Amino acid sequence: MEKIKMTTPLVEMDGDEMTRIIWQEIKDELILPFVDLKTEYYDLGLVNRDATNDKVTVDSANATKKYGVAVKCATITPNKQRMSEYNLKEMWKSPNGTIRAILDGTVFRAPITLPIIKPAVKTWVEPITIARHAYGDVYKATEMRVPKGKAEIVFTDENGVETRETVYDFECDGVFQGQYNKDSSIKSFARSCFNYAVDKKQSLWFSTKDTISKKYDQTFKLIFEEIYENEYKTKFTELGIEYFYTLIDDAVARVIRSKGGFIWALKNYDGDVMSDMVSTAFGSLAMMTSVLVSPDGNFEYEAAHGTVTRHYYKYLNGEKTSTNPMATIYAWTGALKKRGELDDLPDLISFGEKLETACINTLMSGVMTKDLVNLTDGSVEVKPVLTSEFISEIRKNLEAIL
Ligand code: NAP
Ligand code: MG
Repeated sequence: MEKIKMTTPLVEMDGDEMTRIIWQEIKDELILPFVDLKTEYYDLGLVNRDATNDKVTVDSANATKKYGVAVKCATITPNKQRMSEYNLKEMWKSPNGTIRAILDGTVFRAPITLPIIKPAVKTWVEPITIARHAYGDVYKATEMRVPKGKAEIVFTDENGVETRETVYDFECDGVFQGQYNKDSSIKSFARSCFNYAVDKKQSLWFSTKDTISKKYDQTFKLIFEEIYENEYKTKFTELGIEYFYTLIDDAVARVIRSKGGFIWALKNYDGDVMSDMVSTAFGSLAMMTSVLVSPDGNFEYEAAHGTVTRHYYKYLNGEKTSTNPMATIYAWTGALKKRGELDDLPDLISFGEKLETACINTLMSGVMTKDLVNLTDGSVEVKPVLTSEFISEIRKNLEAIL
């Protein structure tokens, strides 16, 4: 069989530990035999980040801006313990943080769902994608614990004119807090969400507490509304999808009663909390995909989980592990399909789809990694396998449908 041709390279960001091992296995077994793979390779493994003073991370993000599509392996975010483990020159910043800052993107997380793994919420039949605004609010707040006295907020404009408001006249000890966000960041967030909804042909929900927060949350609501009306409404109507705004508490109730199959955009804190709830309700972190979408339409695909360190240490001890490669495979299929779409390569899109089908067929036959065993509904006989066996089985199922 002739290999499927590509025209533009994918930006390939290699990573660390167990996911680095799986990365190579996925390429060797599931992609290189079938696709004439073109990538511009960046080694974001911690060893190379240290050797290049983290320049490689910045370069890979700039390459993503240039080409438009990247696929990323999980990477270590160094902490004190990693400093000595890898003998690092510096405690390099989180690569995801660096990349996100350069691409100015929003992260969308969606579960891979299966008929034999039932979500904890019975009504959910389609995945729910969470889009979290990863900037500002309580994560950058200034707070004080104070004794009896008056708490005020003061704004000084460019001309030195002050506006002052009392937060509370404390008659006892207490706490207060100042939060901020920027219109520019909220606009990027909104555009990323609308673009992603168009891309997925799914409706977009957005929720805040604007009835209580009449300026702060209201600003989010109004910016989304304005961008929708001016830039996306026509497109949404053409696609038959909707933009739906509702209060956060109403949204929470509706999400639970829904069938799924939409994107839920959330402010920073709401997104932090709700993404953990939704992903847990759908099953496993190892089945959660993640894509960073920039407001000007660049895409970086990855798995939502980390480098699976515990499994890697076993691997280093010569043990074979049953690490789930699904989310990493889907990072590859997501990137290949997007590249195919942008370059008008139907064969590449179809390959990505078939590889996903092969993964699902493998799981539906009961062949799965250990993490999924206890999540199934008992309707198929489960055969727990090692990562390499799981990948071989996917290859067999792929060859059967190519
Ligand atoms: P993790 O790598 O996601 O793993 C946590 C635990 O979740 C694992 O020990 C394993 O549980 C389970 N798990 C996660 N992915 C799995 C998979 N594919 N198959 C089977 N089980 C899986 O999180 P972590 O241990 O907190 O972090 C490890 C490193 O990853 C850290 O250095 C962190 O900085 C980095 N990290 C990177 C990213 C990223 O690049 N996007 C994201 C998060 C963390 P059991 O051990 O019980 O089997
Ligand atoms: Mg969280």
